[in-house]
Amino acid sequence: MFDLRGPCENHATLRKNGSKALFGTVPNWDCAGYLTSRLFRRWQSSDIREYRIKAFMPSHSEKKERDILKLLPSPKQPPKLTARRIGIHTSTAGGVENAAERAYRLGCNTFQIFSSSPRQWKPYDLARSQCDEMSRLRERYGLKPLVVHANYLVNLAGGNPDFHAKSIAAFRGEVERALALCADFLVLHPGSFRGSSREEGLQRVALAIEQAVDGLDPAAGKLRVLIENTAGSEFSLGGNFEQVAELLYLLSDFVLAGACIDTCHTHVAGYDIVSKAGFAETLDELERTVGLKNVYVWHCNDAKAARGSKLDRHQHIGKGSIGLATFRRLLNDARLAHAAFIAETPIDEPLDDLMNVNALKALVAGAKALPSGKRKPRVRTL
Ligand SMILES: [Zn+2]
Ligand SMILES: [Zn+2]
Repeated sequence: MFDLRGPCENHATLRKNGSKALFGTVPNWDCAGYLTSRLFRRWQSSDIREYRIKAFMPSHSEKKERDILKLLPSPKQPPKLTARRIGIHTSTAGGVENAAERAYRLGCNTFQIFSSSPRQWKPYDLARSQCDEMSRLRERYGLKPLVVHANYLVNLAGGNPDFHAKSIAAFRGEVERALALCADFLVLHPGSFRGSSREEGLQRVALAIEQAVDGLDPAAGKLRVLIENTAGSEFSLGGNFEQVAELLYLLSDFVLAGACIDTCHTHVAGYDIVSKAGFAETLDELERTVGLKNVYVWHCNDAKAARGSKLDRHQHIGKGSIGLATFRRLLNDARLAHAAFIAETPIDEPLDDLMNVNALKALVAGAKALPSGKRKPRVRTL
């Protein structure tokens, strides 16, 4: 028996399973300190490394369960809702339709998903049965709108011909899947124009979307393509409202278009949404350029970085450099009542997703406030 003194569950399992289990794995570096040097030398020199059995020792950070389906039972009563459509980006693990159940358990009445892996080109086919189940659950739970966020790899503004063609094909897949899922909105980051000018980049995005939807009819499916404003890093398009507005104008001939405005991106791009006067001015500017009625989705994310930093790091609602007052103003502005408010906040700890949904809901006028001093409601949806 090896000398395994670690306090973690991995080691308890190791001890239980003895050497057999250990030989079937590659030691995890988190735990390597607990292995005796004799064992470590054996691992280095032997053929143990050839084994590639399913990760035997998950890292410490992976061990915490974060899936709301496993953390919360289905509520007996429908969740209390507010006068706004509030939701969160929701995992599709186990099948795209599971996202609807997750959104319901989180107390949402709208939600956002990826319809395929967000950082892979691999196309993903949805089964008819999955789409039907998604529609059934949305109907049952009153989840509307359904927002699909496009893959992060898609760059319709780029100048590299191979990459551009790949992006157009991938975006066409996004449109097809969004239509199959009866989604209302497909959110797209306008991309990076590195290698050309900003103006050429905007033109190229519009042309690429026209090509991507050729032969499809997203308008018949009532699918609207939403251009999201970005953090405004050097070559990214959409770092200000004028660029988003220009793109909407270019797109309006061949798709239903609109905007998705992200609070974190707006803040780090340099707009003042924190002071009362700044918030009012920023919304006035949004009205003059994009038009508030054309903003169908607000991504509600607090920011880890400072205003104007161009650093896109999302933070929990009320815990970052934006703060609760901005989200309260946003959620209670009558000019925005038609929009969906969707968080894309991190899940650092189990139930952080529920905490952020509840934080937004508590800010809507008339909503019952959460108990003060309680960071995280454990099993209660508002
Ligand atoms: Zn966003
Ligand atoms: Zn972001």
